[in-house]
Amino acid sequence: MKTIGLLGGMSWESSVGYYRKINEGVKEALGGLHSAKIAMYSVDFDSIEKLQHTGDWDGTAKILSQAAINVQCAGADFLLICTNTMHKVAPQIEEAINIPLLHIADATAEVLVKKGIKTVGLLGTAFTMEQDFYKGRLKDNYGLTVLVPDETDRKIIHHVIYKELCLGNTISSSKDEYLRIINSLANRGAEAVILGCTEIGMLIEQSDTNVTLLDTTAIHAQKAVEWAIE
Ligand code: GLU
Repeated sequence: MKTIGLLGGMSWESSVGYYRKINEGVKEALGGLHSAKIAMYSVDFDSIEKLQHTGDWDGTAKILSQAAINVQCAGADFLLICTNTMHKVAPQIEEAINIPLLHIADATAEVLVKKGIKTVGLLGTAFTMEQDFYKGRLKDNYGLTVLVPDETDRKIIHHVIYKELCLGNTISSSKDEYLRIINSLANRGAEAVILGCTEIGMLIEQSDTNVTLLDTTAIHAQKAVEWAIE
């Protein structure tokens, strides 16, 4: 079995989910007392979040590249960046290491392609919903049409991520808002909606809606299990 490298802490609430899901996946695949071989480096999210919101992406790339090197030195065979947003600096991180990166958008797009979905809604931080590093990859590499909420709803989604979910708070009025926004994406033609932020699965699950959801934490973790045991 290969050793899975995790670059976590963004936020730690979602990294807990990765750790659990990966171990559950290995247990399901191999049975008994099997568990995942994991090398993890967890950053202090406070500094990352401040750099994000001042637009200092080079600053985040420096911290995360060093953290990725640490994961590699700890024996990881490949790396997961445990957040959608920080894939903005995935190219710089990839350059700093010589183990492969399991890109969260690729893992998610592969599921969409397998399901035959062509038009998909995307929820995530404002960075993920508005910039091209994520949507562009889905469009250019997989031919997907990506719909995002309107500006007011993007603000709601972003606010809930940083002010509630990353702090471990799940609030029912926020859940209602998310479900309303998911429905409006479906009404605009989305055949499925990507939960493109690794904390959203704490708030919304598939049983909450008839719209097909793609939880990027679950998909990324499952793909890591496949890479580890293949
Ligand atoms: N975990 C989140 C994501 O998947 C947001 C936190 C971050 O900015 O990294 O995008």
